Amino acid sequence: MMDQHDLLEELVTANRILANEGVLDSFGHVSVRNPENPNSFFLSRARAPAIIEASDIMEFTLDGTSIGAEPGKPYSERFIHAGIYEARPEVNAVVHNHSPSVIPFSVTGKKLRPIMHMCAPIGDDIPTWDISHKFGESTNLLVTNIDMGRDLAACLGGRTMTLMRGHGSTVVGRSLREAVFTAVYMELNAGMQMKAMALGEVTYLSPGEIAAIERGRAGFTFERGWENWCHEVDRPYVPGNWDFGEGYSRADRQAGG
Ligand code: MN
Repeated sequence: MMDQHDLLEELVTANRILANEGVLDSFGHVSVRNPENPNSFFLSRARAPAIIEASDIMEFTLDGTSIGAEPGKPYSERFIHAGIYEARPEVNAVVHNHSPSVIPFSVTGKKLRPIMHMCAPIGDDIPTWDISHKFGESTNLLVTNIDMGRDLAACLGGRTMTLMRGHGSTVVGRSLREAVFTAVYMELNAGMQMKAMALGEVTYLSPGEIAAIERGRAGFTFERGWENWCHEVDRPYVPGNWDFGEGYSRADRQAGG
């Protein structure tokens, strides 16, 4: 297992990659669960992802309370991360983003679905969380308390991602590298899908194809992307550890509905 110093450096790298790939801009954030205390997670203070340093990272409990050092103001939407880590013990990383190509799918009822093999991990049943359904027509759309975070987590269920109406999306993974990989290909799929829809009728990946890709996907695939993305943002590449433990499968992820 990575020690905490290395894990926080990995979280800095994840921030830089997601900013460079256009998934995060000045806003949005990525977190990682504390492997030594599964009831807490690490997330930067409120700062643009491209310029985050390890010294900006804070630790929070699963109700979004800060513990330990407080280098600055926390993200108001830390409750997205808290609610999901509480609901999903197998999830170790969360990416909340306003990735531009996914927004149109959050407001039109057109389903975001994988059209290319690298994008299969987004899944073929992506829900849209609408904050107004439970919290009314007068919110500022932000997830600013734990009730909202838990409601978002319930909509996500056992899936890999959920859209958030008029706001963005949230992507989860068993590791930072997996969550980053899925988020990068989510944005690419959304852009390509809109182009394909403009051309005509789209043939999407079938559920069987998505399942086969999930079964066959190995750490090697994530590592190839991660190494390249580290190079692009001038961060050191550290080979990853792909032991996720037992009992994890796509079926488990879908079990929560
Ligand atoms: Mn947001």
